[in-house]
Amino acid sequence: MMTDRLHILGKKRSELAQIFAEMGEPRFRADQMFRSVYGRRLRSFDEMTDLPKGLRKKLSEEIQLCSLIVESTFISLDGTRRFLMRTHDGYPVETVFIPTENRDTICFSSQSGCPLKCDFCLTARLGLLRNLTAGEIIEQIIIVLNDVYGVGKEAPHGTNLVAMGEGEPFLNFENLLNAVEIMSDETGLHIVPGRITISTAGIVPKIYEFAELDRRPNLAISLTAANDELRNRLMPINKRWPIKELMDAAKTFEQTLKRGERFTFEYVLLGDVNDSAEHAAELAELIRKSGLQKVKINLIPHNPAEGLEYSPSDPQHVKRFKKDLASYGIDSYIRTPRGRDIYAACGQLAAKAA
Ligand code: SAH
Repeated sequence: MMTDRLHILGKKRSELAQIFAEMGEPRFRADQMFRSVYGRRLRSFDEMTDLPKGLRKKLSEEIQLCSLIVESTFISLDGTRRFLMRTHDGYPVETVFIPTENRDTICFSSQSGCPLKCDFCLTARLGLLRNLTAGEIIEQIIIVLNDVYGVGKEAPHGTNLVAMGEGEPFLNFENLLNAVEIMSDETGLHIVPGRITISTAGIVPKIYEFAELDRRPNLAISLTAANDELRNRLMPINKRWPIKELMDAAKTFEQTLKRGERFTFEYVLLGDVNDSAEHAAELAELIRKSGLQKVKINLIPHNPAEGLEYSPSDPQHVKRFKKDLASYGIDSYIRTPRGRDIYAACGQLAAKAA
């Protein structure tokens, strides 16, 4: 049975060393394996021709190298690609490749489905199916890189990674951080933490834990409303950790940033719900009174989807919102929606098969 075999993806260098030692193989074989799997992004032992044939055979009998299967790929008119994958036990995983002029971005999932019930997000409708393992998190990146650039080939300008696919990354904290550690290894994928952004809906205790890490990715917090009454309605997680607690955590995190570093608030603009001049003023006031200085805002126009009641803000309102924030001294960026036509944009991931 495939699930009985030992999985190699998601194992750290030291864990690989242990596995190889137990098989009576020398340490350098473990390092070779680390390079083959994460650096050369090979997906079968047969391709690892630098290993003796006998060892390759033994490995393929005892170890499960890959576990995700790409079920379908959808390509948007704007070049964005959505990969619908499946875990070995049948759960959906979605990963999105977003080409940009300079540096491409891969948006990966941390969970299959999501337990949070954000009212404007389609992924919420799936509920939580299960946490992804560190291996499944990394495998998404390997599959997409190989598909887009060719097996083992470098991305021309490197890649940014964002944990903004299905799931709440901070509810799968340990697996996520293990995956990040492996991804950043220079003999492997070599995607440094500075190129990775984790987005959380506001799991406050984890923001404090995250703040204590030395080498960590960038942080984005999905805010979307600047008062508890509205945020409770849009993002029920707010009832557990209301805005004041979230701002205190954000402040603690901010204090650990180095010179020049910033973190992000994401604000999904929902037509006539949270996009008025008063809402902009309220957001600016919240940031001011929380004493936050190293923050920028990503304004995300709502991506509509069947079954979601919200509509996108009028583009004029989006522009005005940004201008209003600027007048209060707050930098914001309007995120261009990508891949809407293939259900690949923020909040649209719901494992749609067509
Ligand atoms: N659970 C994490 C990671 C998901 S990131 C989080 O909430 O941060 C996905 C981002 O897309 C979040 O900022 C979320 O608020 C936003 N989003 C959800 N539904 C959306 C929609 N329909 N249109 C635009 N953005 C949406």
